[in-house]
Amino acid sequence: MPYALTCPASLRRLVLLASFTLLNACAQTPATVPAADDGAANMTATADRAPASGDTYLLLVSIDGFRADYLDRGVTPRIAALAAEGVRADALRPAFPSLTFPNHYTIVTGLYPDHHGIVHNRIEGDGEKNNFVYNDASTTADARWWGGEPIWVGAERRGVRTATMFWPGSDVAIDGIRPSHWKPFDRGFSPDQRVDTVLGWLDLPAARRPRFITLYFEQVDRAGHDSGPDSAEVNAALAEIDATLGRLLDGIAQRRLRDAMNLVLLSDHGQTASSAERAIAVDEIVDLKRVRAINFGVVAGFTPQPGEQRYAYDALLKAHPHMQCWRRAQIPARFHYGTNARIPPIVCLAEPGWVITTSTWLADRGSHFSRGEHGYDNALPDMGALFVANGPAFRRGARVPAFDNVDVYPLLARLLGIAPARNDGNPQTMRGLLREDR
Ligand code: AMP
Ligand code: ZN
Ligand code: ZN
Repeated sequence: MPYALTCPASLRRLVLLASFTLLNACAQTPATVPAADDGAANMTATADRAPASGDTYLLLVSIDGFRADYLDRGVTPRIAALAAEGVRADALRPAFPSLTFPNHYTIVTGLYPDHHGIVHNRIEGDGEKNNFVYNDASTTADARWWGGEPIWVGAERRGVRTATMFWPGSDVAIDGIRPSHWKPFDRGFSPDQRVDTVLGWLDLPAARRPRFITLYFEQVDRAGHDSGPDSAEVNAALAEIDATLGRLLDGIAQRRLRDAMNLVLLSDHGQTASSAERAIAVDEIVDLKRVRAINFGVVAGFTPQPGEQRYAYDALLKAHPHMQCWRRAQIPARFHYGTNARIPPIVCLAEPGWVITTSTWLADRGSHFSRGEHGYDNALPDMGALFVANGPAFRRGARVPAFDNVDVYPLLARLLGIAPARNDGNPQTMRGLLREDR
């Protein structure tokens, strides 16, 4: 099964969401990626581990697919304690579309997907570039996909050492710059191994030790897709990641770095229940030989074949029971989505809980339908993501209203003491979060 090797996402989701074109790209063998700098392998003992006076660290943790209200389930005691002793938002509003790659990159650039260019998990290339397929490193490695300046690039440029224990884009030389320490994404690398790697970086001698570190976990999102957001499996994944974070916090405390560590713990989007009964067979609405499907799923894109524009618009832009389609330029302004040429000319968005697919797919694979989905309208409460922050810079015991995830980047820049690059975030948001601004 060659493409399972190169495309590690679960088969059923991949087949559901990928277009045929993009599936082909996915099946190609990835090019070799440059070797990651494994700082942890060169761990040194503890002599100069304590921070120089005034030095603080910033740890940015993403638990993919952690819906805002999961925190109230009582299965994540360590995260709940961080929230109680720090600051928590009612929700972190994702950017549209509420998908993994667009949102992780928004969090580290402060730019809407329209502006940073990662407009979907799968993007059609323009003739010079191959298609972008989020889980195929041979396609994502092309730096031309990644616009803006991710926080680790800005930090490295200004002499602040960074390390990434996974993050979309962190394995790509953006503007020729990578984090000082980074790893190619590998789902086989366990949560504990990830935490140990971060702790290893904190054990490095001061000259090599990163001040900004990312850490990423996909297990909660995967359980959400496979079993649904209200499943025991999601709760088990939440408990597992909570315990792993507990180990991280204990490791930080043992290193006497707790008072120097600012922690931002968030997710990219939530999750809502989906089912095979809520599938839209789009080939029954439009002839896919006359209109090319760029991607399927919650947010689907279509390009009319030459001479088929009128037909495509007539078929797709009219009212449909469970999805709404727009011409790219007419997508509602609140989505901040539609000026980027990488967005297909017609974008269709499924109603919450529904998914856009084909009758062929349903006949072949309908029994393997996912039970949770995201990508929907980013204002939907179920798409709301986690935001918790804790550490010397943050208020204690504060709860703030939901805010947009473009606002996270200016906060990160502030915490690192670097000038933010141009971004879409509202710098006022951090006033509700930071202690010194009260
Ligand atoms: P989504 O399909 O939007 O739910 O994407 C979530 C999936 O993205 C995770 O289950 C991971 O397998 C994959 N993923 C997350 N981070 C990366 C990364 N840095 N590189 C490649 N794939 C990733
Ligand atoms: Zn995600
Ligand atoms: Zn997901």
